[in-house]
Formats: sequence, structure tokens, C-alpha cells
Amino acid sequence: MYINGTWTAATADASFDVFNPADGSVIGQVYDGGQQSARAAIDAAAAAFRTWSKITAYERSAILYRAYQLMIERKEDLAQTMTMEQGKPLRAARMEVQYGADFLLWFAEEAKRVYGETIPSARADQRFIVAHQPIGVVAAITPWNYPVSMITRKVGPALAAGCTVVLKPAEATPLCAIKVFECLIDAGVPEGVINLVTGQNPAPIGEEFVNNPKVRKLTFTGSTAVGKMLAGQAAGNMKRVSCELGGHAPFLVFEDADPVHAAKGAQLIKFLNTGQACISPNRMFVHISIADQFIDVLQQRVSKLRAGSGLEDGVAIGPLVNEAAVNKVAAQVDDAIARGATLHSGGKRLIEGGLDKGFFYAPTVLSGITEDMLIYREETFGPVAAVMTFDDDAKALEMANDTTYGLAAYVYTRDIGRAMRMFEGLDFGIIGINDINPTSAAAPFGGMKDSGLGREGAREGIMEYLETKMGGFSI
Ligand code: NAD
Repeated sequence: MYINGTWTAATADASFDVFNPADGSVIGQVYDGGQQSARAAIDAAAAAFRTWSKITAYERSAILYRAYQLMIERKEDLAQTMTMEQGKPLRAARMEVQYGADFLLWFAEEAKRVYGETIPSARADQRFIVAHQPIGVVAAITPWNYPVSMITRKVGPALAAGCTVVLKPAEATPLCAIKVFECLIDAGVPEGVINLVTGQNPAPIGEEFVNNPKVRKLTFTGSTAVGKMLAGQAAGNMKRVSCELGGHAPFLVFEDADPVHAAKGAQLIKFLNTGQACISPNRMFVHISIADQFIDVLQQRVSKLRAGSGLEDGVAIGPLVNEAAVNKVAAQVDDAIARGATLHSGGKRLIEGGLDKGFFYAPTVLSGITEDMLIYREETFGPVAAVMTFDDDAKALEMANDTTYGLAAYVYTRDIGRAMRMFEGLDFGIIGINDINPTSAAAPFGGMKDSGLGREGAREGIMEYLETKMGGFSI
């Protein structure tokens, strides 16, 4: 843990193990913090806010820029830690470190662009001035699936705005959080401004975050169930809240699209991070006239994906995070098959070749998905492509929107009118049109409906950490 400028190492009576999900081995131990640690960290952040909020945006920007440089210099080390702790292939881990660093660079720049405005008054002797000020102490909670970038996407804009931070990373990935903190500390973030509370049991730390009056803002990325609970409690105490929650992305392929190109895109985005991404497609709607070719190409590509430790060359499918994740994926696949889906590849846990000690599930393609199946509604968070067919655009749009989630959606079409109708008609915060990577530090990321509140990254990202103050001046 890192509180008020001091590291606390794991001790005999307060520690927990960190595991490699590829083989179950213990790769580290970290301090097991709780409510008291959270309170101490909040006190430190509240004290540091007085000075951090007052230094110039140029000074904060310079520190963030230095942290960006350090993260790039340490990319390989961070990526190795991520692969061992979270399981994704090394190449994907390097890309995530770059994506994570991009937020530090972006917000180093945005720090200098927190503009206010003047508003004309109806009274000749009056002036209105609007300014933005940092909100105060920010409590941040992050997930394990993107264990570096989910931190910088919050800490970057918070620091840029002039806020101080207490972070609780996911219990599965504290080592990545420690390495991110080392970059920030070595870049010159003063003591108390950023604090890291690691813990095996998140509930008492979360309770302190939502109840402590010194916390002015809660920012959470994780499951919809936990996000709703924490957002409800924080709202009860009038704290500002941002939530990036679960997703259930539709992937629509229209009759005018190239089915080979679309299948390639579907494979790349669906199996990214072994399907453990909030923007992962959960239902693929393919026009009936090209469905056979789409499924054929998808199946061929998926059957070539090799599973294993992300440190090995050529591995595309890392482990799932834990046993419960494997069981959830297996339950959705078994349920779909029992209700009549067709299995084209995968469909089982992988245990051969030394994979039995890790949490591996075979990359899977299913077709014939129907509304009564679990996979049609539940977020899978695993390597399963679930395909269904359609023959009517309006019906496809209606089914795509038939989910409580609203994070990402994907559309393949070469018809500009259809592309625009889908962009406007889909109830999701992020729409990829013939594009499977609609994410960037420069673009607003976030969802509608049960997928969350607020946006991260982009121009909007820093506004989540600012209060609006209005001055009416009689002259
Ligand atoms: P999770 O909700 O179980 O955990 C997320 C974080 O919340 C972890 O740090 C965890 O320790 C903490 N947490 C859990 N219970 C808590 C409690 N009672 N009080 C305080 N903190 C608590 O989710 P997960 O399984 O780690 O992450 C996967 C989920 O995150 C998926 O649903 C995924 O879609 C979502 N996600 C969303 C985005 C996005 O930007 N929208 C990005 C990544 C992941």
C-alpha cells in the first residue's frame, strides 16, 4: 500500500497472495488493507488537496507528462507483470501499457485547457463568470481485466484537474497498480496526492469510500451489480459518481458487408483479452444471406487460436481470471447447446498440455442463438462468439437494443444510409462502424443504461473531476 507518501509492505499478519491465472502459482504478496487504511488514505488525500489544487495546471501537467514518459520507458516490465498477474498475451499487455500511458499524456495536455466562460446578463450592471474547480478527494475502484489503463483513465484526469486520489485496485491485480504508482511517484507526484489501498476484501474499503464525508467523488469501473450498489450509497451522501460498468455489445453484419472481413473483425474483437472486455461482442447478428460464409470463416480463424501462458510466443488466448469465470462461461455454453444452439468449435474447458492448473476455456463459436438462452441476456466475459441470423434491418436493430446494457455496439455495412441509421438508432455509448477498435484516450468512453454514468477519456473525461462555480458580479 502507499499512504501519505509511505509504502507499507505485506506483513505476516496482514497480507494476501497474488496468483498467476495461467498456472495457479503465487507471484507476490501484498498488504491486506481494510477500512482503517482507507480512512488514513482519505485523510492524507484531504490534507494534500489543499496544496495540489493550488499549484498551477502547468506544474501538474509537467508531472503527468513525466509519468507518461516513465510508463513508456518501463513498458516491458509493466507488460511482463500484467501477463503474469492477469494472463493476457504479452503483446496485448504491451498495447495496454501504451493505451494506459496515453491517458497520462492526454490529461497532461487537458490540464491546461480547463476553460471557463463569461455569460451576458440581462442587467447592464451585472456580469456572470463561470469557472471550474477541482472537486476534492476522489475515491477510485478499478477492475482486473485492464489493470493498468483503468487506473490511468481515472488518476490521469483527477490529477490534471487538481484532485487528490485514493485508489483501490482489484484484489486480483494489485501488482500492476503498484507499478503504475511507482511511475507516478518517480515522476514527482507529492506525498498524499495519490494513495493506494490494497485489500483482499473490497467491501469495508468501499464502505469507507461512500460514507466518509471527505470523499467528494466516487469513480468505479467493474460489474453493474457492485456499481449500482456503490453508486446508490454514494448518491445517498451526495457524492458525485461516475461508473463504467458491464456491457453486452451487439455485433451487426448486414447483407451488403463483406462476410470475410466482418468475420475477421468479429474474431479479433471477440477474443481480445479472452473475451474479458466490457466492449466485447456478446451477440452477433448476421444477415441470413451471408451467415454461412461468416460462420465458416469465423470458425476457421477461431480454431487456429492457441491457448496458453501469455508469456509464450504465438499464444492468443490467455486464461480466464478464476474458477468462477470458467464455470460461468461453461454454464452459458451448456445452456445454449441444451436449448438448441449449434456448436462449431470449442465448447469445453482446456486441460491438456499443462493447462489444467490454470483457468482455460476453449475459444468457442455457437450459432442458432435464441432469446431464451442465458447468453442472449447475461454478459459472458469469456471466449464465446454467439451468432444469430436476421433478415430484416428494423428487427435486427430492435433485438440489438433488447438489452439492459448500453456500452458498445458494432456495425458492418457498406451502405452509408444504413450506417447512419444504425449509429443513430443503437442505444449504446460507443458505436464502431466497420471498426472494431473505437477506443482512444482522445475519444469519450462510457455507456448508457446499466452500463454506467459519465464518460472517461477525451475532453469530457476531466469534467468528471471538476465543479462548476458561477460568479454574479454587480459592477
Ligand atoms: P467487480 O465489480 O467484481 O469488481 C470491480 C472492482 O470492484 C474490484 O476492484 C473489486 O474489488 C471491487 N468491489 C467488488 N465488490 C465491492 C464492494 N462491495 N465494495 C467496493 N468495491 C468492490 O467486477 P470485475 O469482475 O472485477 O470486473 C468485470 C466487470 O467490469 C465486467 O462487468 C466488465 O464489463 C466491467 N468493466 C467495465 C469497463 C467499462 O469501462 N465500462 C471496463 C472494464 C471492466
